[in-house]
Amino acid sequence: MAIENKAPGKDVSSEDLESKFPLAAKKSADHFSTFEIAGAQFGGGHIPVFAGPNMVESEELIVETATAVKASGAQFLRGGAFKPLSFPYRSAKYNETREDGIRWLGTAKKETGIGIITEIMEERYLDLVCEVADILQIGSRNMQNYPLITAAAKTGKPLMIKRHFGCSLRDWLGAAEYAMVEGNEKIILCERGVTAPHTHKDSSRFLLDLQVVPAAKEVTHLPIAVDPSHATFWRSWVKPMALASVASGADAIMLEVHPDPENSAVDPLQPITFEAFEDLMVSMEGIAQVVDRTMGRTLS
Ligand code: PEP
Ligand code: MN
Repeated sequence: MAIENKAPGKDVSSEDLESKFPLAAKKSADHFSTFEIAGAQFGGGHIPVFAGPNMVESEELIVETATAVKASGAQFLRGGAFKPLSFPYRSAKYNETREDGIRWLGTAKKETGIGIITEIMEERYLDLVCEVADILQIGSRNMQNYPLITAAAKTGKPLMIKRHFGCSLRDWLGAAEYAMVEGNEKIILCERGVTAPHTHKDSSRFLLDLQVVPAAKEVTHLPIAVDPSHATFWRSWVKPMALASVASGADAIMLEVHPDPENSAVDPLQPITFEAFEDLMVSMEGIAQVVDRTMGRTLS
């Protein structure tokens, strides 16, 4: 529910809905966008799943993961070839695979038929990334990189805009409006954890803001995805928070899945195994039924 404030604040006002993000704003209570990407339905009764490693580490790993997650019902493979790594130092293992990684995503797509979502960090790589990506991911760090969002939106490819860990719903919808004003209507928003004083574990950096899901759905018609992997940063919390994400009304789920999680090149504390992913898909399907939705397994 928009509040009736006159001065710009951190929360969404009715004036914001009319003049700051009229394209992202709902026009009526039951206004929810639905669209198809790579054969998957977004924003309706179905909840697509994006699953895969943090980084596209090798061709073998990404093809193996694509095969496994597709068999469990994921409709999209996730994985970064261009990565916003927090520190500049690299090693043989901890190294972006860049052009090679994009090519390997292409192999995984060709061999399995799975959809691809991958991050775009710089405008100069848009042509390359668009060759394989069905969805361009704008990472949380780039949520307010408006020139990047504008250029990515202009390609016409669907975008998923991850929420910055320090930004309000109002700022997030502003980022979506930057994409929509370019005529791009296939925009997905993704909650991935926010900064909070207490995260319950010293390795955790963020707190999953599930309250933003119903809050966003009161003001925007765009599908809202949730990524419990980056939010919790802790493997054993991923399943309960993924189930809670489905219960909260999430329109898509992003999960980090790795054949050998402890040896993931990036963030080894958060990916789940193929077996845990299969088990989680079964459990999410159960929760989805309670909230009148379906997950990938129903369709596969
Ligand atoms: C990712 O999805 O790999 C990622 C880097 O996420 P975020 O932008 O949410 O940190
Ligand atoms: Mn990651």
